[in-house]
Amino acid sequence: MIGLLVQYLYVVGVILFILALRWMSEVKTSRRGNWAATGGVIVAITATLLAYSIQRTDLLVGAAVIGAIIGMPIALKLPMTAVPQRTAMSHAFGSLAVALVGAAEFYQYTPNVDTFSLSVLSAEMILGFLTFTGSCIAFAKLQGLISGKPLVYRGRIVVSVCTLGTAVALAVYLILNPTQEFVLPIMALFALAFGFLLVMGIGGADMPTVIAILNSYAGISAAALGFVLDNKLLIVAGSLDGSSGFVLALIMSQAMNRSFVNVLFGAVGSASKSTEQVVEGRTVQSFTVDDVATVLNNSKSLIIVPGYGMAVSQAQHVVKEVADIAQSRGLDVKYAIHPVAGRMPGHMNVLLAEAQVPYEQLWEMEKVNSLFPETDLAIVVGANDVTNPAARTRPDSPLFGMPILDVDKARTVVFIKRSMAPGFSGVENELFYLPNTMMVFGDAKKVLTDLVAALKKS
Ligand code: NDP
Repeated sequence: MIGLLVQYLYVVGVILFILALRWMSEVKTSRRGNWAATGGVIVAITATLLAYSIQRTDLLVGAAVIGAIIGMPIALKLPMTAVPQRTAMSHAFGSLAVALVGAAEFYQYTPNVDTFSLSVLSAEMILGFLTFTGSCIAFAKLQGLISGKPLVYRGRIVVSVCTLGTAVALAVYLILNPTQEFVLPIMALFALAFGFLLVMGIGGADMPTVIAILNSYAGISAAALGFVLDNKLLIVAGSLDGSSGFVLALIMSQAMNRSFVNVLFGAVGSASKSTEQVVEGRTVQSFTVDDVATVLNNSKSLIIVPGYGMAVSQAQHVVKEVADIAQSRGLDVKYAIHPVAGRMPGHMNVLLAEAQVPYEQLWEMEKVNSLFPETDLAIVVGANDVTNPAARTRPDSPLFGMPILDVDKARTVVFIKRSMAPGFSGVENELFYLPNTMMVFGDAKKVLTDLVAALKKS
């Protein structure tokens, strides 16, 4: 009877996880998605507690209480900009748990483990351990505990591949000789070392993509453990986790026009790629906020293009203030959202939602691009690469092929940034030199606060 109830609860849990993913894919329904996921986890834990005869309830309750004491303040106080780091830590602990459960299963049943189970166990332990160290390094880079620069040295890829190869070779040896228990910790060490080497070789700004890739590894290892434990819920939840992480990493790589291999082994960000050059005959026109206020007052339509700089200066609230004033003066206001603007997926959506920007004003790149030619004013707030026409026109540019926001087609473009420095890709933006571009130099929050004051005066 209990067994049947557990199976029903597992089905409910799975349905909630699938609905959660569906709802989280749209800004409007994302909160509902979050609740569905929370419900799914509660149902899954309840079913699991019912399924197994628990011998040490005290340990379970103690672990849950300690986890809640650590987790709740982190969840409540965490700034939005630190979400990638927090996600990295979730993956680190999730994958370590999966790897350790796998090791416990091995020691409990060896040598009476069939070859299939041992193969699956070995694969999930390797994935789990490498995801643990990889995620810890991703956390340290994003938190600024270690340098974000990729660790580059001669033969780096050979060393990494040999390290992984040794872990796999040891796994094969263990599968063929399950009595040789001492092999397991050595295999684990090589897997841990590979995770470390892999992520040390990747630049800090690529960490969000790496985290999505590690997410898929953690999911696959959990699904594999589900097969060994014969736990259907773990198989489905792990597969959902693994595939959603993979799809997310794919979307991010495509939006940056990069391949997985380039993200993992390209060491982007190692050398100074600044192409800032003074080219004869080109001039940059610097303007004041009063000039921008005048243009805005004479415009009928405005598209705001937020980017990484808006996140850095936390200018989202004052961006909304400018938009509200513009709207109250009869302008049609939209926000153009590029899929990889900022440094994590959905970065701009999260910040603008925090500032209570209405969902219907957020326009995705594919839809908004056709509107730029008929737009009077585009204000670019700390965005750079996602507007760079080199992606369309310069085959030799690292950005070439990346879909961009066509802000250059607007009648007037205002760029708010602190200097002429390039963005993440290191590629100079020729838009700064166009005759219809007004550069306003300064911290985004400060410039926009001054613009609000100037608009209120005018
Ligand atoms: P960019 O990194 O291209 O440019 C950001 C600009 O913001 C800089 O040029 C900088 O110029 C300016 N800036 C920084 N701080 C401030 C500030 N306080 N006030 C005003 N301006 C500021 O950002 P985009 O959003 O345009 O593009 C994102 C880039 O990141 C893309 O290349 C993308 O591929 C990459 N990426 C995105 C990921 C994602 O998931 N979203 C993940 C990994 C990489 P200045 O210093 O002169 O102020």
